[in-house]
Amino acid sequence: MPSSYRELKAQAFAANLEIPKRNLAIYTFGNVSAFDANRGVIAIKPSGVDYDRLTVDDMVVVDLEGNIVEGKLRPSSDTPTHLVLYRAWEGIGGVVHTHSTYATGWAQTRRPIPIYGTTHADHLAEDVPCTAVMSDDAVERDYEVETGNQILACFDNSNPLHTPMVLVAGHGPFTWGPTPEKAVYNAAVLEELAKMAFVTHTVDPGTARLPDRLIRKHFERKHGKNAYYGQK
Ligand SMILES: [Zn+2]
Repeated sequence: MPSSYRELKAQAFAANLEIPKRNLAIYTFGNVSAFDANRGVIAIKPSGVDYDRLTVDDMVVVDLEGNIVEGKLRPSSDTPTHLVLYRAWEGIGGVVHTHSTYATGWAQTRRPIPIYGTTHADHLAEDVPCTAVMSDDAVERDYEVETGNQILACFDNSNPLHTPMVLVAGHGPFTWGPTPEKAVYNAAVLEELAKMAFVTHTVDPGTARLPDRLIRKHFERKHGKNAYYGQK
């Protein structure tokens, strides 16, 4: 029977293949989901399937409550984390989780990635936030849902579309965007920012954050109503 979710599954499949292609994860690490806001469903990578064996038909379609709508395989074990973000935030169309080396390294130190330079400020105007370490209670309760809740807690005072990335303490990064392609782009950008910050911190651990005026200048060149970077 032809799938009525063919396009969404194709979109999720293509975005998932970008993960190994951009060296953001090996083996089965990492997953991408694509959201259809009109139908209230996501397509996500199945659990534990290597990228080189993955097919479009393997993508699992799940509703926002986590019920499988279409698919023969079990969805990624991180699916409940993705769903927490889709339920809470309007305007996101894709979520990515990887264990990319540098971003995961920072997550393991349990600290935010400081905004050291303009490359970072071109993409987001604050440090890459890092969640709190999860309590034993929360781990026992529902680990993946609580991971989502901890991510939400980092955005009480900021716009998740302006800062489309987070480090989950002791674990690794999650990124998102208006589309799955943009969410993958943000995962690649985060890895590069994490790498640059690692070099900066290694050369001089006392390096100061970029001054606020430069942060605003760079962020607003590319974002917001007065943006002038790139072609019209
Ligand atoms: Zn993970």
